[in-house]
Amino acid sequence: MFESLIGLIAAAEIASAQVEVQEKADAYFAVANQTTVTYDVSYRGTILSDKGEFSRMTDEILADARGWKRAGIRFKRVDSGGRMHVILAEPKEVAAAAPTVCSDKLSCSVGSLVLINDDRWRGGSDSYNELGVSIERYRQMVLNHEVGHFLGHRHILTCETATGQAPVMLQQSTGLAGCEPNSWPLPSELWVRL
Ligand SMILES: [Zn+2]
Repeated sequence: MFESLIGLIAAAEIASAQVEVQEKADAYFAVANQTTVTYDVSYRGTILSDKGEFSRMTDEILADARGWKRAGIRFKRVDSGGRMHVILAEPKEVAAAAPTVCSDKLSCSVGSLVLINDDRWRGGSDSYNELGVSIERYRQMVLNHEVGHFLGHRHILTCETATGQAPVMLQQSTGLAGCEPNSWPLPSELWVRL
């Protein structure tokens, strides 16, 4: 009885591992095809941050050789009608975009919307500020994290084993879980599912 239960658990684990392998295979197929993602940049509500700086940094982060580009994505800025909408938003506008998913305390990704919370963009997070990490690194992290959701990533809960770095998909704005702050996708995160 006990052994057959273990057998069932093992079979379930193998099945779920096979699903994961297939999902990764699909993801790498997308990467091999050098997918182009068009994006536009806009603003919602009352914005206290420097809009020009947000626009410039968004372009820089998405074009950075350390970023999602390494997963085979080519980001192309368009004036409007992009596949991905990067939006700097007043906190209440972030929450209003998807009240059951997003809050006014954090940034949030919903469908094609990558909503960066104006408060967090200006002030960073306690988790980063307590360690004296620069606002620039926080901004890189938060944009890469939310774009990662758009690319099909969910949260990761633990540090990278070898280096102790936080995966970019660890929710670093709310806590580092003992990991080193990290703004860029780790090699193990370089896949997309669009
Ligand atoms: Zn997240």
